[in-house]
Amino acid sequence: MSAASQQFKHDAERLTHDLRHRLLIQTALKKYEVARDSKKSRYQDWQSARQTAAEIKWDAVNHLDTYLEEFASKLEARGAHVHWASTSEQARQIILGIVREKNARSIIKSKVMTGEEIHLNEALEKAGLTVVESDFGEYIVQLRREAPYHFVFPAMHLVRGEISELFEEKLGSKPTNDPEELMMIARGILRNKYITADIGITGANFAIAETGMISITENEGNARLTCALPKVHIALMGIEKVLPKLEDLALFMPMLATAGAGQALTGYNSLYAGPRQPGEPDGPDEFHLVLLDNQRTHLLADAEQRDALHCIRCGACLNVCPIFKNIGGHAYGTTYQGPIGSVITPHFRGLQDWKHLSGASSLCGACTEACPVKIDLHHHLLQSRRNAMARYPVWWERLAFKGFAFLVNHPVLAGLAPPLARVAQRFHPLIKRTPLDPARPWTRSRELPQVAKQTFKEFWRSRKR
Ligand code: SF4
Repeated sequence: MSAASQQFKHDAERLTHDLRHRLLIQTALKKYEVARDSKKSRYQDWQSARQTAAEIKWDAVNHLDTYLEEFASKLEARGAHVHWASTSEQARQIILGIVREKNARSIIKSKVMTGEEIHLNEALEKAGLTVVESDFGEYIVQLRREAPYHFVFPAMHLVRGEISELFEEKLGSKPTNDPEELMMIARGILRNKYITADIGITGANFAIAETGMISITENEGNARLTCALPKVHIALMGIEKVLPKLEDLALFMPMLATAGAGQALTGYNSLYAGPRQPGEPDGPDEFHLVLLDNQRTHLLADAEQRDALHCIRCGACLNVCPIFKNIGGHAYGTTYQGPIGSVITPHFRGLQDWKHLSGASSLCGACTEACPVKIDLHHHLLQSRRNAMARYPVWWERLAFKGFAFLVNHPVLAGLAPPLARVAQRFHPLIKRTPLDPARPWTRSRELPQVAKQTFKEFWRSRKR
């Protein structure tokens, strides 16, 4: 069992027993569901919107080479520097190279999920830079030295009192239970950071091939300030973010807001197309775009699961997942949590160490139903289980299935199993929950199901008499 798998099991079990944590998450997600459903009802036909979105993403991902080149060349034509990074390490080195060249000391960041993926903050801090997250939720988790809990709601596991205590301790503010006041405390500190930062780093929600623009959607205006105020803007994005046409945003922007946050549209939707052009009053002097592969082409090569690259990171699949609702985001130990994280992480970080994530699903299909771009998530999790079993077989599981196959192929022996199981069940209470109990992983938190008094065969025979 890998270290990641052991940690996951340990954390998942601990958090499943944490009723306060479960209640907190489920209450937050209930509010999200109500908001999402009310905004979904504004669509004339949500299902056909999903179908169209899936087709656009299919086109984009299946012609990624063409669209990426078109996107990059348009952006470069306006003076932007486009960098291609195959790995996390390359992406970090590219960004560190720009930072050193500019003699930068301070960095402001906004909406950079890929930054979490490549552990960018750690690399920048190690190089002696001051890095500040400007998204309110991300600022909170940064102060706690924690990873984001959810890729849309990074601090959803915290209540106001906890945030107030954190601000008191780290920022010296007065205690308050008012969310607006808490927001103003953070804002008061962050305003100055935008002005003094040498470099602004953002992610991108979409990249438009037709026009060579990146699109960022947000609710706080912090990404706008991050892009506009520092002299240098670096955008870091995964290569799968491309959309063919500008008009595609008319579908994807509201869809992302509805599925992601239960909003008709997010508060700020901006497009960036390189550095400040002659005659323009504002914008950065330099614009760098880092296009990150980091195993995305590995996923692209997998015809069966390629559509996982359609993901627009709305988080809707997390919000409906019964496993996520019980264990929360940190237990996964990954940048991308929930069903989509369980599908893509084995591709990004290796099947051997992360195959356990495909087991973190009830296969109920709620994720697939919620996904606005129709990714077949629960079937992909099944395929991942199959792939893991084929490549890394577990000896005792193989033995158990062989034993089962042998039994069902020998009816006389199979007939002995129910009476033996009934006898074993009678004596089971003597060893229940002790180290001798073979069913201990199950009986630690649940009762064993009772063996039926009659087998189906016996029942059928008795009916015929
Ligand atoms: S897989 Fe679908 S539902 Fe999940 S985050 Fe991606 S787009 Fe949203």
